[in-house]
Amino acid sequence: MMEGKQIIGFELVANGSEKFQSVNPATGEKLSQNYFKATAEEVEIATKKAAAAFQIYRKKSGSEKAFFLEAIANEIKELGDELVEVCLTETAIPKARVEGERDRTVNQLKLFASLLNEGSWVDARIEIALPDRTPLPKPDLRCMLVGLGPVAVFGASNFPLAFSVAGGDTASAFAAGCTVIVKAHEAHPGTSELVGKAILKAAKDSGMPDGVFSLLHGDGPVTGIHLVTNPSVKAVGFTGSFKGGKALFDAAVRREVPIPVYAEMGSTNPVFILPEAMRERADKIAQGFSGSVTIGTGQLCTNPGMLIFENADGAKHFTEQLSEHFKKTTSGVMLAENIYNAYHDGLSHHSALEGIEVLANGIQTDGVNTAHPVLFKTTSQTFMAHPDLAEEVFGPTSVAVEANSKEEMLTIAKDLSGHLTATVHGTENDLLANKELIDLLEQKVGRLVINGFPTGVEVCHAMVHGGPFPATSDGRSTSVGTAAINRFTRPVCYQNMPAALLPEELKNENLLHILRRVNGEFTRQPIK
Ligand code: NAP
Repeated sequence: MMEGKQIIGFELVANGSEKFQSVNPATGEKLSQNYFKATAEEVEIATKKAAAAFQIYRKKSGSEKAFFLEAIANEIKELGDELVEVCLTETAIPKARVEGERDRTVNQLKLFASLLNEGSWVDARIEIALPDRTPLPKPDLRCMLVGLGPVAVFGASNFPLAFSVAGGDTASAFAAGCTVIVKAHEAHPGTSELVGKAILKAAKDSGMPDGVFSLLHGDGPVTGIHLVTNPSVKAVGFTGSFKGGKALFDAAVRREVPIPVYAEMGSTNPVFILPEAMRERADKIAQGFSGSVTIGTGQLCTNPGMLIFENADGAKHFTEQLSEHFKKTTSGVMLAENIYNAYHDGLSHHSALEGIEVLANGIQTDGVNTAHPVLFKTTSQTFMAHPDLAEEVFGPTSVAVEANSKEEMLTIAKDLSGHLTATVHGTENDLLANKELIDLLEQKVGRLVINGFPTGVEVCHAMVHGGPFPATSDGRSTSVGTAAINRFTRPVCYQNMPAALLPEELKNENLLHILRRVNGEFTRQPIK
């Protein structure tokens, strides 16, 4: 059997001696394929190639880059069942979800391709010179967004396709005009390699430079840190745990030349239920909430890990209904042994606290790394006395917090740290009577959900999958949706630049027909 190598530009390389194997989480057995870990020299070569390729790739037109992204999407589709099978074996994610995630990955690449073909994303701003202005003439000023340079990408274990080798970070970095070096997640190296080879083929077929993409295997604290501290790397995209994201962030700010790190980390995604909604539709909310906590064995970054409601009419019925749904839900195989162990550590931590009770246990089936849902319940006093109860336990569990008043709900909201999402269930009357809560939550999260559930992240132009620290390392951005492109860009202003040297996007003719802000007004018209 061939051993897995690094993809360094257009070459497959394995100069190291250290190897590893991934594990089938459903059996606990090591898979037969070996993968070489990248050496420090290989990291250096990949970053040098990425820096050289950037000088060519950044000059490609939007339509050329779009063609490349579409070619990647097509190559991933071409992988067919092999990709699904390998991914299933490495992650134990059910087949339908893997297929859905593959489609999402493909559509995400196509969405960025359409953004590039349309072209206005560069945010072109033009101020026409006023040479006769007094007391000082105004120069000709034209600015737009350009790519930062080589980007290091780290994917998460729970989205082996959509947040991995050809996931949102890679797609948005390529779209921004950046070259990409991915550090493959050690839990799914086979899936990573298949997708990496699809990108390699797409790059060659669409005339992209050698080095536009590399894929390296290795340990995060070694290969990952080498990558992030390499001077050629100009930005980092990360999805995963708080520990991993923070380690990479800290390494990046310690560099002689610090670089931005966009780390999407953990989140507990609080859900609030307001009194009238509780009275009117407790059953429906209980069913939806239970589904949102347990879907994907709770291994989603938007999984709601805390639920806050008032101890009022309907609350008892609601918790009974919620418990019934949890009790009927069967366990699932977790992504990896360490995630399974961390889930059980989290459950033990909660169970050991005074003032917290286990309201319901789901159905535990046999099997390795198999975890069942657990619903905890506590009072707002206990919750506020133990801030660690608000921390993420990655898996199918949640803490239901019963508050004695609206004021207690507000205090809980005030004390929240940054989260990806917050959800409020309320009737129109409820929502109007709780504007203060909504106003508070808006300051804590990237996405505020009304009468829905946080799981299920639409990939589109208006999505924000981000949020204040510690949900992310930089709450000014999103890692899902087309706005993710902005993370890997910076604005450049050209002052009195001769027309022949201006980028196409900023020339008077506007042959690309993009939307530009000319002297403050949005227009697609050429400048006469
Ligand atoms: P992870 O353990 O942080 O791994 C992610 C990547 O970071 C891997 O490549 C890993 O390398 C590397 N890494 C880990 N620790 C490192 C360190 N100390 N220094 C350098 N690199 C390091 O995360 P995961 O287990 O894949 O994912 C589960 C977590 O991700 C959950 O907490 C979940 O909530 C979160 N998540 C967040 C989002 C979001 O959008 N915010 C989405 C999905 C998941 P190795 O390959 O060597 O492990």
